[in-house]
Amino acid sequence: MFLTVHAPTGIIIGQYISNPILAFIIGFIFHYILDMIPHGDTKVDSKYKNPIHIGTAALFDFILLFFVLILLFFSNVNLFKPSIITGMLGAMLPDILQGFYYIYRGKFFKKMQNIHNFFHDSISKKYEMNFVPGIIFQLIILIILIFIIT
Ligand SMILES: [Zn+2]
Repeated sequence: MFLTVHAPTGIIIGQYISNPILAFIIGFIFHYILDMIPHGDTKVDSKYKNPIHIGTAALFDFILLFFVLILLFFSNVNLFKPSIITGMLGAMLPDILQGFYYIYRGKFFKKMQNIHNFFHDSISKKYEMNFVPGIIFQLIILIILIFIIT
């Protein structure tokens, strides 16, 4: 799933769990739980799995995430609460590790990538939605998460 979806789950976790370390760990675990929900990206044709398309998707993701954070900043969410920051970082970490794996295929990143793929593909191997409905589905989740946060 997009970081734009993962980050708000980390914010919610940080709102409820004020211990920053615990918020980080639970945020990290929630990344894998969220990724297990089929969301269309395993149906992407392999011809689009190249640095240019992945880079463009990541850029789009970062820009959207930036706007979501700005929106939350101007609502009365305290984005600088330590547990919210660490919850968000924990929730995004698996995809950041994946990014490192794409750039530098070290042993550690390879291992983390295998764990990521295991959870990500556990259900979507059998039950997957198409790419466009998957995007719409993720946007709906994002809107719901924003409502929960604010
Ligand atoms: Zn992921």
